[in-house]
Amino acid sequence: MRGVAVLGSTGSIGESTLSVLARHRDSFRLVALTAGRNRERLEAQVATWAPAFAGLVEGEAAPGIRTGREVLVEAATHPDVDVVLNAVVGAAGLDATLAALRAGKRVALANKESLVMGGELVALAAREGGGELVPVDSEHSAVLQCVTGRDGGLARLILTASGGPFRDWEPARVHAATVAEALRHPTWSMGSKITVDSASLANKALELIEAHFLFGLPYDALDAVVHPQSIVHAFAEFCDGSVIAQLGFPTMELPILYALTHPARLPDSGARRFDPVAAGSLTFEPVRPDAFPAFRLGVAAGRAGGTAPAAFNAANEVAVAAFLAGGLPFGRIAEVIDAVLQQHAQGPATDLEAVRAADRAARARATTFLD
Ligand code: NDP
Repeated sequence: MRGVAVLGSTGSIGESTLSVLARHRDSFRLVALTAGRNRERLEAQVATWAPAFAGLVEGEAAPGIRTGREVLVEAATHPDVDVVLNAVVGAAGLDATLAALRAGKRVALANKESLVMGGELVALAAREGGGELVPVDSEHSAVLQCVTGRDGGLARLILTASGGPFRDWEPARVHAATVAEALRHPTWSMGSKITVDSASLANKALELIEAHFLFGLPYDALDAVVHPQSIVHAFAEFCDGSVIAQLGFPTMELPILYALTHPARLPDSGARRFDPVAAGSLTFEPVRPDAFPAFRLGVAAGRAGGTAPAAFNAANEVAVAAFLAGGLPFGRIAEVIDAVLQQHAQGPATDLEAVRAADRAARARATTFLD
């Protein structure tokens, strides 16, 4: 029985994780839950699961529920927890990722933003504390499944992207897209921030940065390709030219379960069984950087390294929040990111204060470009 903490339990990945855990009560025990603001949903989860620890970041305390920003780290370092499933959205997830790794836990990471911001710090925390990082993102889970059990030789990765709802739209139409249009994802049902990131393809840039830190490949060996059916999740190319891919109908429950059990597998009924005939034709197209400038900016920030990815992430978070609130046209998201990155004072990302300072400065600058 492994103890599990679910951070961000009231979100899309959090709820999917609870569905997975409900099928595997013999293997995992839910020890801790945290939510952001959704107290009602958290209370319902606490009533169902009776975890040893429950925390709400914002809001009034309730019986059995602690409140405050520190609940994330408390849950992540709880002594009965072996695996921390970090499904918090945004930069708010970083401290818990670091704390869990320093405490020697496995971190099943959905919160890609914490790796994008502090990739070097995350690796250091794992080395120092003996913790282990396992991806939940479906593309990175696919890569892990392709490389596990093989003895090195990984040469290149190609991550797939659905292309989002604006895949074949003209750039001018993408620029003027509405919130409702951006939230209409063709193949995945996810939280609103990552759904907008998928529409702008900022998400794929975040994922290439995530892959750089997880698998240690340079950016020249990391590519993305548009694959509208979302059946192939990633291709791993080896040094002899051989390519291994991982396939499946889109569901996050499979990568969540694999992040809990890696390198082992548990029999599970959660994923629809694969049927190549039902999957139909699989097609691939290049990413169109003219229509999706946020992708190009994110990859450039990844290549620049240091605190540039943290600045990219922070500017994107501010711009996406403004777009979702109805205060920014879709096309301005990339323009805000561009303006912030042009003013970014580059520096190393080897200490937490430098990363936090870059995050704060980028947020402050992004806010000035929102009008
Ligand atoms: P959701 O918006 O659905 O859920 C986010 C969760 O984080 C909620 O539980 C929310 O709490 C909590 N939260 C929000 N802000 C804070 C904060 N400041 N402090 C603490 N907790 C907070 O997002 P998703 O589940 O879609 O995504 C979560 C992460 O997983 C993201 O990093 C995303 O990129 C990644 N991911 C998601 C995928 C998906 O299919 N959804 C696929 C791959 C990666 P509350 O609602 O109570 O306020």
